[in-house]
Amino acid sequence: MKIETLFIDRAIRPCEEIDYIIQSTSLEPEYVENSKVVYDHVNLSDDPITKGKQTLYITENHGAVIKKCPGTSHYTCCDYTILHTGTFCTMDCSYCILQAYFHPPLLQYFVGQHKIDAALDEIFKENKTFRVGTGEFTDSLIWDKISNQPAKLVRKFADQARARSRSSNNNFSILELKTKTVNIDSLKDIDHNRKTVVAWSLNTPKVIKSEERGTASLSARLKAAKECERWGYRVAFHFDPIVIYQGCEEDYKEVIKSIFEGVRVDKNVDSSSDGVIKQSLGILPESIVWISIGTFRFMPQLKQIIENRFPKSTIAYGEFITGLDNKMRYFKPLRIKIYQKIVSFIRQYAPDVLIYFCMEDEEVWQKTIGFFPKKEGQLGAMLDRSVMERCKAC
Ligand code: SF4
Repeated sequence: MKIETLFIDRAIRPCEEIDYIIQSTSLEPEYVENSKVVYDHVNLSDDPITKGKQTLYITENHGAVIKKCPGTSHYTCCDYTILHTGTFCTMDCSYCILQAYFHPPLLQYFVGQHKIDAALDEIFKENKTFRVGTGEFTDSLIWDKISNQPAKLVRKFADQARARSRSSNNNFSILELKTKTVNIDSLKDIDHNRKTVVAWSLNTPKVIKSEERGTASLSARLKAAKECERWGYRVAFHFDPIVIYQGCEEDYKEVIKSIFEGVRVDKNVDSSSDGVIKQSLGILPESIVWISIGTFRFMPQLKQIIENRFPKSTIAYGEFITGLDNKMRYFKPLRIKIYQKIVSFIRQYAPDVLIYFCMEDEEVWQKTIGFFPKKEGQLGAMLDRSVMERCKAC
């Protein structure tokens, strides 16, 4: 979705970061004394969620820059660290939790690279692995089109002292940029020192077409992942949300085949293509740091939003039960069945790649992967190990 209105918090001093955004969006900014003007602009429109995607507010983050991911009670947590650089998204997925999460839903960019750098310097001092992501409250790479923040973060992680040290006893931290875009241009030619993992959320072409408005096609995402692999980055994939429908197993099998065997990229499915049909090669298993999987789940209040904004969507109609965290989830036997299939498809190509569940319980882990990281911190430690193995400098 195109950004149509740009508001800037008058309290923020003009800086290069803001100039860059003004120039990239080609919009005449409106300076505001307080956020009420912006909130009214969004809230008083006929469709505040759409309006919030078309309205960019440049302001300061008055809360914590770095937060521990809250996880969900009763389900295994992966000990992720969130870097809070902005909110909301210009793409439009029917199931997006952010539609119900922010009041009002609003695209915000937080100025203050120095603040981010200071917060990161603190964690880089610790001899510990932090897996840090910007893709929790926004898509990490929508910002690549209008700011140079993603590239700056990649450089920051590359230059952490422990990552440059030759000592093998050093733990280092990594940045995960999670996206459904193909906005990778600024990541090229950076000395990333392999401390950034570029991750794509994947789904079947059917789900992408019906539920993920404005996102890149599957083949375009995989082509971008291959490009990043060529540039020396490690990559990751997130099958989340897996949607259960008639024929979904075959479709997810095809997606997994495409990851490892490559995709045909033609102009009908890839707007970035020059029109020539090409074959993009598959991703090497050793380039993948992890693959997470999680079936569709939603807070009950999201259902109404989906019905209003995506009348053709059937995603919220299925065999759901209320989970221990009050979210609606597919009936457990259905989850286990699709997970078993997906895990076995991945294992055929990549027996050693770390697969983990986002928010699942012991029974699901045991019946699909054959073990359960029961102890607190055990899943996080597994992911850290994968980082230490696969993200060593090139
Ligand atoms: S890409 Fe992610 S953040 Fe953006 S609308 Fe879709 S689910 Fe939400």
